[in-house]
Amino acid sequence: EFYLQRIAAEKHLNAFVEVFESDARRQAGELDKAIRSGQPLLPLHGVIIGIKDVLCYEGHKVSAASRMLEEFTAPYSATAIRKLLDAGAIIIGRLNCDEFAMGSSNENSAYGPTLNALDNSRVPGGSSGGSAVAVQAGLCMVSLGSDTGGSVRQPADFCGIIGLKPSYGRVSRYGLIAYASSFDQVGIFGKNVPDVASVLQVISGADPFDSTASPRQVPDYISDLKPSATPIRFAYFRDAVEHPSLDPEIRAALLSYFDRLRQAGHTVEPVEFPLMKYIVPTYYILTTAEASSNLSRFDGVRYGHRSKQAFSDLAEFYAHNRSEGFGPEVKRRIMLGSFVLSAGYYDAYFTRAQQVRRRLVDQTQLIFKDFDVILSPTAPTPAFRFGEKTEDPIAMYLGDIYTVFANLTGVPAISLPIFWHSNGMPFGLQAMTNRFEELSLLQVSELLA
Ligand code: GLN
Repeated sequence: EFYLQRIAAEKHLNAFVEVFESDARRQAGELDKAIRSGQPLLPLHGVIIGIKDVLCYEGHKVSAASRMLEEFTAPYSATAIRKLLDAGAIIIGRLNCDEFAMGSSNENSAYGPTLNALDNSRVPGGSSGGSAVAVQAGLCMVSLGSDTGGSVRQPADFCGIIGLKPSYGRVSRYGLIAYASSFDQVGIFGKNVPDVASVLQVISGADPFDSTASPRQVPDYISDLKPSATPIRFAYFRDAVEHPSLDPEIRAALLSYFDRLRQAGHTVEPVEFPLMKYIVPTYYILTTAEASSNLSRFDGVRYGHRSKQAFSDLAEFYAHNRSEGFGPEVKRRIMLGSFVLSAGYYDAYFTRAQQVRRRLVDQTQLIFKDFDVILSPTAPTPAFRFGEKTEDPIAMYLGDIYTVFANLTGVPAISLPIFWHSNGMPFGLQAMTNRFEELSLLQVSELLA
């Protein structure tokens, strides 16, 4: 009841697309009854969780914040959602985001933008803006988002909370509406590391419905969550910290933070990373290619919006459905993706980008031979104002420079709220460990946060 009241009181933030009010009450009642009848407490008994509007929850609407799926009801639950429910969590509603998780500001939603609760004139980040604000404003305890190129970490950074993107393959993607399948990963928002660890514990693991979900055993993220006593070897990319797009205050805060870590006995060393300039282009070539393929199913026949306009043939019918159903950013990406996959350009763009991705993965493995953790900013600036970047999609894309690396290489990454900018907004520190080393990432986070 407390959270339902909070949600109603903060309705203007536009964080929720839909509140599952009666359902949440029913779940709460059942969980309450279970305790009274002496049944054991479940791992997430009564924990109030909001979910990004890209995760399927059986019998509930899920729209990817798109007109295309406005009337779509999920016929089954995503594995992550089923696991949360089995662990006793209460799913309180679905959260606003950029359409099909494409964006960095939540300005691409068919339901209008979510507002940053700290400053309503500023964006909450994206694409999981609603998930970030719901935790930021205390509308739920933790929330789920999805992170294809930073969509959990960057809004966490803009809102002053924690955002974790697990390794590719740590959490099943079954029931997550696909944007770019080889990048997508379910992520977690919370206000402290143990909360995030508790949710990760529940949703991780193998899944017969997703062959990319790793069969590796899930460690005990909760009991083993002690900061390590031994000195940690931190690396940072010199090119990242010296990048001209980085806000000078963020640079200064990071460098002095590195000094503090050194004083505490850790090593913090710059490494050269000449591939830095290829990161954003590689990400946008590969993700738009995958998106153009994934989104081809939304044709108004199998799925999605069906136009009322008259048509003379099938192509025109598809064109009407897709023109009306998709917003401008989604269309831009489908066009970009179709272009880089088209016969004359496939080798020059798509194949090339795949080769760069391979190099990135190899170089990252080399770095993790000598270092435990890579540190970087999460974003080049704190939360910007609404409309500031909407006219210039490239400027918006370039803001993803620090986050897309983890998705290209599949490593886990977390944004930790540590700093405040003189403009009154928070910003975070991003930490990354090697693939499937979520436990050490969480341990380091306890030390850093
Ligand atoms: N901002 C990035 C993009 O627009 C990341 C999105 C995401 O992680 N879903 O693609």
